[in-house]
Amino acid sequence: APVVVAIDGPSGSGKSTVSRAVAARLGLSFLDTGAMYRAMTWWMLTNGVDTADAEAVAIACGKPVIVSGTDADGPTITVDGVDVSGPIRGPEVTAQVSAVSAVPAVRTRLVELQRDCAGLAPRGIVAEGRDMGTVVFPDATAKIFLTASADARAERRAAELRGKGVDEATIAAMAADLVRRDTADSSRSTSPLTQAEDAVLVDTSALTLDQVIDAVVELVAE
Ligand code: C5P
Repeated sequence: APVVVAIDGPSGSGKSTVSRAVAARLGLSFLDTGAMYRAMTWWMLTNGVDTADAEAVAIACGKPVIVSGTDADGPTITVDGVDVSGPIRGPEVTAQVSAVSAVPAVRTRLVELQRDCAGLAPRGIVAEGRDMGTVVFPDATAKIFLTASADARAERRAAELRGKGVDEATIAAMAADLVRRDTADSSRSTSPLTQAEDAVLVDTSALTLDQVIDAVVELVAE
């Protein structure tokens, strides 16, 4: 069976960076499933669908064609052929993605796409998100749950934003939004963010990025 490495955890745990680096190191494909939920949200906003209206979101969610490029050296995401990798990181999408991702029909559709991506990966895949180990890939080769203290997560995100020249007021607002999003993602009824019983917990608070990558690579090799 092809290798599937399932990596879950809250925002700011370092999931994306770590997962991508692990995929590159092991010669596997890489799938950022959060980008797919963000792409779906972007399409709803662009097409005037009220994201607070779960029924409207459920009815519309079959329409956009979302395609994830899974090359670990340059992952891509398009909606109806349009590259949305920039806009899906913006504040509008970030503020509304939790509401969209809580709609069961959205999850059913994207989970199917995620399994298709894994099936098409030539050597296997590192897939990261919130429900990789619990729902999407219950039989994954390795399952890792990355966490970090709330302070460490907020501080990392702040450093990232400061590096991009973002002002302090915006950084504080983003920190508050991160907490709000994690609470929403952990408390929703469909596929809440939770550690799979057979996942290995890695607390990244006191580790450097390289240490986390080494630890995860080692767990996959076991
Ligand atoms: O990983 P990222 O922060 O980009 O994910 C954005 C949002 O997408 C999360 O806050 C969550 O609401 C949703 N998500 C999800 N299930 C996944 C990945 C992301 O519900 N597997």
